[in-house]
Amino acid sequence: MRCRRCGDKAEIYLKRHNAAFCSDCFQVYYSEQVRRNIRREKMFGPKDRVLVVVSGGKDSMALWHILLKEGYDVTAMYINLGIGDYSERSQEVVERFSEEHEAPLIVKNIEKEYGLNIPWLAREIRRSTCSLCGTIKRYLFNKVALDEGFDVVATGHNLDDEAATLLGNVLSWQEGYLARQSPVLPSTHPKLVKKVKPLFTLTERENLAYVLFNGISFIHEECPHALGASSILYKEVLNKLEEASPGTKQRFLTNFLKKGRKNFEACSETPDLRECSICGQVTTAEVCSFCRLRQMAEKKKMKADSQPQKDENL
Ligand code: SF4
Ligand code: ZN
Repeated sequence: MRCRRCGDKAEIYLKRHNAAFCSDCFQVYYSEQVRRNIRREKMFGPKDRVLVVVSGGKDSMALWHILLKEGYDVTAMYINLGIGDYSERSQEVVERFSEEHEAPLIVKNIEKEYGLNIPWLAREIRRSTCSLCGTIKRYLFNKVALDEGFDVVATGHNLDDEAATLLGNVLSWQEGYLARQSPVLPSTHPKLVKKVKPLFTLTERENLAYVLFNGISFIHEECPHALGASSILYKEVLNKLEEASPGTKQRFLTNFLKKGRKNFEACSETPDLRECSICGQVTTAEVCSFCRLRQMAEKKKMKADSQPQKDENL
């Protein structure tokens, strides 16, 4: 098979575009997609300070690399969530990339800085690990961006992620989530930073090809808590549909964004936003969910610490 652009030997075939590319021309295609997404969706400009959230996985590493290559003012942020060896290995990957590319990196460690440990919390307060993790990550993305003066937070969500989220929200008719599903979440409060997804039209496979062609190291394994997540099942279903009808995922997502989402906008109530009485971050309640988590964790720890003493007194 020959490259569609230059006629050299092709190294990747993209069924949904019925196009094959050599590695150099694939990178031209990839860069054009990212540039077009940033420009069309008005994500950010050359003067904006971009905080790119990295996990060490292929998608966020590809995003970090392409934004640096495109000359944006980019700083990465890695959050060590205390998920055993997985967190340690992914932090190493991210730190190595930062050193090799002289790229600024902010590392947050939730255990050291906030006394939070996700596996312990999930056991103690009986909430799903991913839901706890999501609360902590969303809080820190915004807090760090706000405290450090970033204009926008960029994440590595890809086409497969977005199509799977859409399918999940459609299956349970989550009207509020459908109204908000977008590659750009604008700031709706002076203390909320805009969030963007520059890779939302690129597939997992395309991000994998990008990191491999560029020799970028990444953590190959998934987070152990991803196993069994419904998003994986939705991805498998969409992959089967894609196999039978190439382009299904892209049509599903882009047609929803163009034609479907507006039908749900009326269902989305604008929440009453205020500042958390403890930390000052934006919330809909008196105390934000992150501070509530910290309070719960402290109470549990105090109770656990007082337990042996009680036993001794018996
Ligand atoms: Fe967090 Fe769940 Fe993702 Fe793991 S799979 S990083 S626990 S949201
Ligand atoms: Zn708070």
